[in-house]
Amino acid sequence: MLNEKLHLYIEQLIPERNPLLMEMEQFAKEHGVPIMELPGIETMLELLRIHRSKKILEVGTAIGYSAIRMADAITGAHIVTIERDTERINLAKEFIQRSQLEQQITLIEGDALELENEVSSHAPFDAIFIDAAKGQYKKFFEIYSSYLNDGGMVITDNVLFKGLVAETEIESRRTRNLVKKINDFNHWLMNHPTFDSIILPVGDGVAVSKKRGERK
Ligand code: SAH
Ligand code: MG
Repeated sequence: MLNEKLHLYIEQLIPERNPLLMEMEQFAKEHGVPIMELPGIETMLELLRIHRSKKILEVGTAIGYSAIRMADAITGAHIVTIERDTERINLAKEFIQRSQLEQQITLIEGDALELENEVSSHAPFDAIFIDAAKGQYKKFFEIYSSYLNDGGMVITDNVLFKGLVAETEIESRRTRNLVKKINDFNHWLMNHPTFDSIILPVGDGVAVSKKRGERK
């Protein structure tokens, strides 16, 4: 991984976002909302642009920051995004409305593990962004990757979990269990028969997977 100084250097080179987005970043910081880290989201947006993803499914809206950033970055893109937390849903609605991008964003309320029917009515997707409960990544991936176009991309955030995936001694049992789940997901993903994947050490760790469409 790059050292602290270089991370800072890269981050400082990223241009400022518009005032609403900066307000959301500040809000997230003050209220402990785990929006994607700046270098992570910039990397994802660039991949989505290069991939020319237009129809994107997001699992984990939080307050709508990443959904707004995707809608804003990619002209003509449509984001279908899922959130289960009522308070965050209300905040997301407000921010999305203020962004004036509401025509590009469909917010689905509820638990992503129970919404396959509703989500599938918006399929197929060019890309899927998984950024919700870390212990359920494999389930989210399994359910929703079947609604991905061939050549489609899955981006999964937080796969390095603050570097803990590479630690052998973790005190808290809860954290240890979660780390094991993320590790299992990473191994499973990297050996998936129909996806080519790589884990980028940016932000909190971003996995990029591309669907091949045929078996190895
Ligand atoms: N993608 C957002 C951050 C998401 S934070 C951004 O970068 O701006 C993760 C969110 O996922 C939390 O708000 C949490 O409530 C939601 N979440 C976790 N598990 C979920 C599930 N099973 N279904 C729906 N939302 C879920
Ligand atoms: Mg995240």
